[in-house]
Amino acid sequence: MSAYLDRLNAAQREAVEATDGPVLVLAGAGTGKTRVLTTRFAHILLTRRAFPSQILAVTFTNKAAREMRERVASLLGQPAEGLWLGTFHALAARMLRRHAERVDRTSNFSILDPDDQLRLLKQVMEARRMDTRRFTPQGLMSTIQRWKDRALLPDSVPGDQDIDWGAESARDLYAAYQDRLRALNAMDFGDLLLLATDLLKRDPEVLADYHRRFRYILVDEYQDTNLVQYYWLRLLAQAHKNICCVGDDDQSIYSWRGAEIENILRFETDFPGAKIVRLEANYRSTAPILAAASGLIAHNEGRLGKTLHPGRNDAEGERVEVLGFWDSDEESRFVAGRIEALRRDAHKLAECAVLVRAGFQTRAFEERFIAIGMPYRIVGGLRFYERAEIRDAIAYLRVLAQPADDLAFERIVNVPKRGLGDTALRTIHERSRADGVPLAEAAARIAAAGTLRGRARDGLRDLLAGFAAWRETLRRDGHVTALATLLDESGYVAMWQDQKSPDAAGRLENLKELVRALADFETLEGFLDHVALVMDNDNEADDDKVFLMTLHAAKGLEFDTVFLPGWEEGVFPNQRSLDEGGAKSLEEERRLAYVGITRARQRAIISHCANRRIYANWQSSVPSRFIEELPEDSISVGGSAALAREQRLAAPPVFAAATPLLARRGADEWNTQARPPRADKIAPGTRVFHQKFGYGIVLDTDDDRLDIEFDSAGEKRVLDRFVERA
Ligand code: ATP
Ligand code: MG
Repeated sequence: MSAYLDRLNAAQREAVEATDGPVLVLAGAGTGKTRVLTTRFAHILLTRRAFPSQILAVTFTNKAAREMRERVASLLGQPAEGLWLGTFHALAARMLRRHAERVDRTSNFSILDPDDQLRLLKQVMEARRMDTRRFTPQGLMSTIQRWKDRALLPDSVPGDQDIDWGAESARDLYAAYQDRLRALNAMDFGDLLLLATDLLKRDPEVLADYHRRFRYILVDEYQDTNLVQYYWLRLLAQAHKNICCVGDDDQSIYSWRGAEIENILRFETDFPGAKIVRLEANYRSTAPILAAASGLIAHNEGRLGKTLHPGRNDAEGERVEVLGFWDSDEESRFVAGRIEALRRDAHKLAECAVLVRAGFQTRAFEERFIAIGMPYRIVGGLRFYERAEIRDAIAYLRVLAQPADDLAFERIVNVPKRGLGDTALRTIHERSRADGVPLAEAAARIAAAGTLRGRARDGLRDLLAGFAAWRETLRRDGHVTALATLLDESGYVAMWQDQKSPDAAGRLENLKELVRALADFETLEGFLDHVALVMDNDNEADDDKVFLMTLHAAKGLEFDTVFLPGWEEGVFPNQRSLDEGGAKSLEEERRLAYVGITRARQRAIISHCANRRIYANWQSSVPSRFIEELPEDSISVGGSAALAREQRLAAPPVFAAATPLLARRGADEWNTQARPPRADKIAPGTRVFHQKFGYGIVLDTDDDRLDIEFDSAGEKRVLDRFVERA
């Protein structure tokens, strides 16, 4: 008996040894599905059934591919070469490069990123004189993407699924877009699988070649495949049917990207007699973690149904902690503090992960980690202050604070587009050099002199008038209102609102989070200094770092300690799933929660905040329904001192400031002008409590500012909204 098989239980071994014929492993989180796949890979090689290059192995992320390569190498005792191992997209791209001429490309074809895709589609629409403001390229792009996910080329889109896009048919525009891609020797992301599948379908010679080549096919995270990926697999497996897919219907979290859980059912139909293996022992998590996750997911109706029991012999463990905090500041302090404590106990930072529902949530943690010098890494995304929309907004603020900031001015002068393209910018640069003045000043002179014409002239005039007005807002209403106003009035928010691309919503959330962050600072300059320091803080040398990522990015991974913050209605489950009202999107949110909890080996810490700031105002929030759904005997409930305090206070004055924001131009959430004056003026001499600085005595008042002598923080000027009577 080979040693590597000894590391498997009976069911796992059965799945590994059933090398020939179709196999479907359906099992819950942490039951060793990925281990089965990796071992199967090694088993095929070690029993000389195939060479490494004759196995096609599909993973969901590049990270998973890397891990699989390492696992196989360690099982074999040497690095395996010539592997076809990677994500669907990477594998399809490789296939297409080998046969580029058969899909009307040359082998060096380029793969467009989402920005390029949109630009190209927009060109196609503009060439047809379409109104791209009313019928946006973004909306059309997502329709095309969905067709591609379902393996539909322009010719094969059924007539009754076509839609009108302005005066045109979406299908015709799709065809024109594909023509442009071909002419440019390019493809978009969705084309990779689409064209690879089409190639295999059309070209028996190529198909036969791959049938000879790939004797075995292995697929991880099968529950998240979409239709075109399924067709691609089915074509490749058709001849020998040696295909093994592993997945968990409870972890299907990509339906918004076209993933179809029905692929599990299709498998049994298309591969009759497929061997179905179920794994039930979870080797990853302690018993309480498992009980919490199982109890939660039991609330979903649409399930294939599985049992899961602890497989570790040390499965006894700490209960899942459910903690309430006053606000996200306190929450992130707690998380960072707990990680510090673990580190002192000789735990590795890289064994701790903070998993958030939405990208904007990383900010509070990043700030805290940076403040205390805790190394962290963000997986599958940029650090908060590096995100494009945040840099744009900060560039606006920099110009506001410092009109001579040329870099910032250049970044935003034509974002959103206001007719100030390369030509106009060159004119401004020339004037700036000639007169020896900053770009903004040169722009003002050009505007005054009437040098520019048409759209450029109007655009520049509006921008300069805007900055004059926002400086006035800054002076009169403070920096928080100034930022919210300028994002709105500059058209920057509208630019993202007009985009229907999947990431636009996340960018808007990030912008809101930025406005919230600004409220933590007394002055705009203070904030900009802070950002400059934060941006400068990257200690890449250190490899032991806390992981910070979204739940989506965490699929398939595991950590000793997992923090799951922000479990509040409207954050998680997110607002969209609540607005839609259907059970379907709520169930997907619940699966995401299940994925989150099951990433933990030793401890899982779920938290929620009682208050979230909406701009400068506070709103109380309700703990996530998912918390209610956790079995009571698997959790321990705790919370912060501040929160306990809050619960004793009948109606904390801080809520008095949380009034509905005025609706305006479809961007109601952007209007912070409606900030109401505090109803109960606090007189000098009053003893108060401030969320950040603690207790103190009011010395003086000035409009909505208070000068306070704090017991420990000394004298400070603060906004009265953050203060309550002690
Ligand atoms: P997920 O659904 O989250 O992707 P999975 O089913 O792929 O999980 P794995 O990641 O393969 O699960 O395994 C979970 C953990 O359990 C890993 O640390 C793995 O090494 C360990 N494990 C798997 N099978 C066994 C076994 N038979 N004995 C001991 N440990 C095991
Ligand atoms: Mg796995």
